Amino acid sequence: MSTALDWRRDVHAHPEVGFTEFRTASRVAGHLADLGWTVVVGPEAMAHDRRLGVPSEAELDAAFERASSDGGDPRFLPAMRGGHTAVVASIGEGHPHLAIRADIDALPLAENDSRSHRPAAEGFASMYAGRMHACGHDAHVGMAVELAERLAAEPPPGRVTIVFQPAEEGGRGGRAVAASGLVDDVDLLLALHVGLSLPTGTLLASNDGLLANAKLRATFHGRASHAALHPEEGRNALLGAASATLALQGMTRVAGHETRVAVGRIAGGTSSNIVPDRAEMLLEVRADDGEVCDDLERRAREMLAGAAAMHGLEVEVELVGQVTTAVADPAAVAAVREAASAAGLALVEPVAESGVASDDATALMRRVQEHGGLATYAALGADLAGGHHTPTFDVDEAALPLGVDLLERLARSCGR
Ligand SMILES: [Zn+2]
Repeated sequence: MSTALDWRRDVHAHPEVGFTEFRTASRVAGHLADLGWTVVVGPEAMAHDRRLGVPSEAELDAAFERASSDGGDPRFLPAMRGGHTAVVASIGEGHPHLAIRADIDALPLAENDSRSHRPAAEGFASMYAGRMHACGHDAHVGMAVELAERLAAEPPPGRVTIVFQPAEEGGRGGRAVAASGLVDDVDLLLALHVGLSLPTGTLLASNDGLLANAKLRATFHGRASHAALHPEEGRNALLGAASATLALQGMTRVAGHETRVAVGRIAGGTSSNIVPDRAEMLLEVRADDGEVCDDLERRAREMLAGAAAMHGLEVEVELVGQVTTAVADPAAVAAVREAASAAGLALVEPVAESGVASDDATALMRRVQEHGGLATYAALGADLAGGHHTPTFDVDEAALPLGVDLLERLARSCGR
């Protein structure tokens, strides 16, 4: 089996969610360092304060301990403690400077364990309960590691950097890696994602349909009281969350733009005879334009404040994820198309379904573009068993060697 497949299957079996990718990241760092790549990890590879939605200390520590005893590389683990799980590795010097972004996080989802699901049938299904690589980031790691091996064996012109980015899900990690400044010198950035409704053997060289989003956690604080003896003394936090939910889902939309509003979780209270003093909700807004998204977020915050006022509550609103939009540079798209054709991939044009998600690679794209470089977000076709973010998700592994060939050709032709 190839390096890409080996690594993909090992990472698939050990899925780690955002900021807890200690095993994945430390093993990648160790392997690339052994190959002769220069490896940056820890807070130097991601700005501590720019991270969003970082798990609790207890969760981070538990994941760290698991990684320590389950194959994590002890040379790199200590620097990652506390959720600094980015790995930025480079080889060569000067220009052209090509950067490849590979996201590394899994999802909080239980994997299908039936024999009809190939990872289960072939023995590489998730070994971590309630965690799953259901978006293909395991394939991204596999392809990037094989690329690293090929470039170590035969160095490319100039410099190549691979950004192994944590916490893509929820739009929480890309902005922190961008803020490290490690991609400021990049001439061309390619973020590659597998699947996205495209068949194996195809490539979409730019996907500008990515939506901007903002994810919020709202906590309503009220006052508990006996629901029958003294309801008038209580301030019902759950009522605030419920009113806000109805208001948010009914938010007036913006003409001419794709928008989304969703309340995905609402929780509060303990018992039928106690007025609940606390309620929490998780919600998001998305739009095909960064400014429209900012406007939806502002109105969502007003609705949360209004719902709190209606019921005599306080509300705390925390931004737990944020993704902006980015537009590909034609010259970057052309370079990727050329490398893809040389790798035997069929070039395709955007399809409707590929444009409705978000990806915080846009933070890295914008950072590169602000510093004079070029960037694009491409989709590598891979037939899927089950859709993205579902328990039966699986990628056609035949797509991986094609992806590695594409990346290698881009690395060797960059700047020519
Ligand atoms: Zn993804």
